[in-house]
Amino acid sequence: MADIARIDRPPRISKDAASLRPKPHLLDRAAIRETFRWSDARRQLAGMTNNGLNIGAEAADRHAHGTRADHPAIIWLGVDGARQVITYAELHRRSNRFANAITSLGLKRGDRLFLLAPRIPALYVAALGALKAGVVVSPLFSAFGPEPIATRMNLGGGRALLTTAALYARKVAPVHGQIATLEHVLLAGGAGDAPLPPGGHDLDALLSQAAEDFATVATRPDEMALLHFTSGTTGKPKGALHVHEAVVAHYATGLYALDLHPEDVFWCTADPGWVTGMSYGIVAPLVHGVTMIVDEAEFDPQRWYRILQDEQVTVWYTAPTAIRMLMKAGAEVASEFRFEQLRFIASVGEPLNPQAVWWGQDIFGLPIHDNWWQTETGGIMIANTVAQDIKPGSMGLPLPGIEAFVVQRRNGGVDVVEKPDTEGELALRAGWPSMFRGYLNDDERYRKCFVGDLYLTGDLVKCDADGYYWFVGRADDVIKSAGHLIGPFEVESALMEHPAVAEAGVIGKPDPVLGETVKAFVSLKPGFSESDELRRELLGHARKRLGPSVAPKEIDFARSLPRTRSGKIMRRLLKARELGLPEGDTSTLEADK
Ligand code: AMP
Repeated sequence: MADIARIDRPPRISKDAASLRPKPHLLDRAAIRETFRWSDARRQLAGMTNNGLNIGAEAADRHAHGTRADHPAIIWLGVDGARQVITYAELHRRSNRFANAITSLGLKRGDRLFLLAPRIPALYVAALGALKAGVVVSPLFSAFGPEPIATRMNLGGGRALLTTAALYARKVAPVHGQIATLEHVLLAGGAGDAPLPPGGHDLDALLSQAAEDFATVATRPDEMALLHFTSGTTGKPKGALHVHEAVVAHYATGLYALDLHPEDVFWCTADPGWVTGMSYGIVAPLVHGVTMIVDEAEFDPQRWYRILQDEQVTVWYTAPTAIRMLMKAGAEVASEFRFEQLRFIASVGEPLNPQAVWWGQDIFGLPIHDNWWQTETGGIMIANTVAQDIKPGSMGLPLPGIEAFVVQRRNGGVDVVEKPDTEGELALRAGWPSMFRGYLNDDERYRKCFVGDLYLTGDLVKCDADGYYWFVGRADDVIKSAGHLIGPFEVESALMEHPAVAEAGVIGKPDPVLGETVKAFVSLKPGFSESDELRRELLGHARKRLGPSVAPKEIDFARSLPRTRSGKIMRRLLKARELGLPEGDTSTLEADK
């Protein structure tokens, strides 16, 4: 890693676009942006009678008949070495069975099914089957602890949950009683030796009785399809509502950002518990009829290189943390493998260091293409693409159909910044199909994201004279760790449930591999004293409630925490102090107690 960083690299990677094979979909970016219409992209999809559109059907059924019926849709690699190929025809049948199974349980159009499962075939089948039944799908990350699960299921009014017996026992059983709306628990792989939980069903038994034919519900394009939870700085997690016509953007970005062609073998390493794993780890590749790889196992450098090699992956979509972990593992690990089929690598979720872009060039003969989007946008908005030059460190250029701006807020409105290289907030002209249509039960929060027809993303960026966007930072205190957005408030609340904690403030601390790690500052209630033992206890308490991906890695004790006069913890100040940075404007700081 250090060696690569030391080498002097030019600021631009030029592409010989005309020689690329297969011919890139976005070869002439300017011309395509000029003529692109979302309505044309929509016409490329199958659609349904009466103007209906259904994500599940576009993904699971579009290629299920005719010449691509026997084409592998999913190649599933199990932790224990198993390999399962699911063709498009089979995915169609299996998702139909699932749709019939939940319909027979009484789940109706608009009801919510939560998914909490490892990356096993049942998860993919369930997501598609539920969408076809008009049931709204809400994925949960399987590394969440009981508390984030209960919070999200309660907010979302989950009527059903797909999970496994092991995850149920560890994560849902302790909070099941708190989820009043939960009626059905579908256990993939059955209950094992344990009794079925209340409302429990053996999914395999249900599916074996379900018919293979199902008439997909003709959902409206603007009908709710997916509920993705994301984190803000304050309050509870936000449920971003996405509609069925989001699939138009999944399709178009699959073309232009990921350059998917029918014979591609595509591997998106993101977990479907997060929006990337849903939009690009399920929907986009299936809508394009390509073969997608699903790996059940957790990150492991050797395993990943082997998958790229043995499965002959052609297009790989991954994340900066994973790339940095591969870099850390060393080039020797990669040198045992060959990646002749690989033709395009993209990354999303956090800033991608220029060294990482170049590392791709050194290891795979291909630079890594950074792109930008967020839960609210539902799909990729800004990207380095296969035929355009890369400026390492930049997120790239807006895709066809996307109008991006740098703005500065002023008097309730915004000024669009025209001058290149000037910092401001990234704004997007509303109207692309995968744009979120609301935050669940929080219209005001939703409205605040817009000024006129501009959606304000909460990210600070710069745009250079060539139109490339550069990430500067977040405008809020939200933490990005290993690509996962973490709301400090959720962590603070869990810490404050411990009897010793009087107040808690949580920040993201820069980390060379994970981007940021969660660090907490706590002050103690009278009668408790600081000790390493208490610190360990608090770390354990948070981990148990929140799960390892959300819980703090580090806790410091403080006599009191800096607060504004209105009582809000000044996380910005905690962070500046932690990092030895200037404290900035402290005029609203409450005098130290
Ligand atoms: P999420 O909603 O969890 O997908 O997180 C979205 C946020 O991740 C964005 O608002 C950014 O702050 C950050 N992010 C996503 N992609 C990038 C990128 N390419 N470079 C820098 N930050 C990114």
